[in-house]
Amino acid sequence: MAKQQFKAESKRLLEMMINSIYTQREIFLRELVSNASDAIDKIYYKALTDDRLVFDKDSYFIKVTADKENRTLTIRDTGIGMTKEDLENNLGIIAKSGSLAFKKENESKDGHDIIGQFGVGFYSAFMVADVVTVISKALDGDGAYKWESTGADGYTIEPVEKDSVGTEVILKIKDNTEDDSYDEFLEEYRLKSIIKKYSDFIRYPIKMDMKSS
Ligand code: ADP
Ligand code: MG
Repeated sequence: MAKQQFKAESKRLLEMMINSIYTQREIFLRELVSNASDAIDKIYYKALTDDRLVFDKDSYFIKVTADKENRTLTIRDTGIGMTKEDLENNLGIIAKSGSLAFKKENESKDGHDIIGQFGVGFYSAFMVADVVTVISKALDGDGAYKWESTGADGYTIEPVEKDSVGTEVILKIKDNTEDDSYDEFLEEYRLKSIIKKYSDFIRYPIKMDMKSS
């Protein structure tokens, strides 16, 4: 399958993220949890006016699953989901988050300032992951799709099976290097403390699951 290319400005931001040695890279989780929460908000507001939907509180939640053995961290939500077009348009280019504006203003600064000052969104996942996979099924879509990217070299999209509406963001956590460890992002206590620090105000339950075999 041919790889789709990111737009030029997205590519530069991505490269910056990937190469960032930023000490607060933990904020990727804040960004992904806030996206999950936004997606649940959208289905919630839809339920208010759509007879097909009943907003049953128990069926709307965010779930964070760490799998140490496979080095994956998954953020799943039962939100509105994304169609194939949404995946293309929302994850393929940086159009949101005021990303374009901050890029211009902060061109000369290094990644530290930029990432600390702004909500950098989905792309922050590449600070801790070398592969990001998004599996999503939209409420009003034609089935589920898998978006996958290893970073600045583009992304692929293909149809997949998924039963329920919502989104799963699967991060393949980077391997440790000589002077840099990413293991903390697979540790329950650490993930819990990041969630407590940045996502305490989220209105939906954030469940945690540790996979061990
Ligand atoms: P922002 O949240 O500021 O719009 P992001 O980079 O965080 O920017 O996300 C870009 C877009 O991707 C979102 O606006 C949304 O449309 C889509 N998106 C990201 N994560 C999800 C998700 N879990 N469910 C549904 N849509 C999502
Ligand atoms: Mg966001």
